[in-house]
Amino acid sequence: MNRAQVEGLVFTKQPYIEDVGPRKIKSMQFTTFSGAEISKLAEVQVYKGLYYDTTRKPIDGGLLDPRMGPANKGCKCATCHANFGDCPGHYGYVNLALPVFNVGYFTTILEILKCICKSCSRILLEEKLFKDFLRKMRNPKLEALRKVDLVKKIIKKCSTLTTGNKSTRCSRCGYLNGLDFTFYFVVYSSCSHLYVIHNLFISAL
Ligand SMILES: [Zn+2]
Ligand SMILES: [Zn+2]
Repeated sequence: MNRAQVEGLVFTKQPYIEDVGPRKIKSMQFTTFSGAEISKLAEVQVYKGLYYDTTRKPIDGGLLDPRMGPANKGCKCATCHANFGDCPGHYGYVNLALPVFNVGYFTTILEILKCICKSCSRILLEEKLFKDFLRKMRNPKLEALRKVDLVKKIIKKCSTLTTGNKSTRCSRCGYLNGLDFTFYFVVYSSCSHLYVIHNLFISAL
């Protein structure tokens, strides 16, 4: 979503009421919020890592800023003026000094990195096994939990191909994977980016 589209969005706390009757949905797109959308949705920027001042009053710009909702039963919300029981809570956002990985996806990212060729990114499974897993994963009738099990099996299979002293040659590019399997977390100071990088490529930075 570009900046003009974000600016065109109306963020409201009013309940949505359909006023033109049913419509046919042509397409649907799911995305995460962009930085601009998050700051637009929020009532307050949180920039202090503190809760209360010396008089036990929530600090403005702190983690319990009253614009995000009452901090306790004795307070009122500074945004909707409702009490502790009625305020639904409002968003605050933190400007991060550096980009960070979403902790919720971090393990998954590392597991995917272990399953792909470090040269061309193809999955390390041999062709027959790859097609077999792909066919099972694309089965629309497969339950979500069975899919999770299948993913675990794929990760285990790929990991056993390359851990210890084992190595496996990529079937697409011929690169020998698995000789060294360490990932480093690097903060590259000149451009303020955080990378997960395989040690084979660390000298390229
Ligand atoms: Zn409120
Ligand atoms: Zn490859």
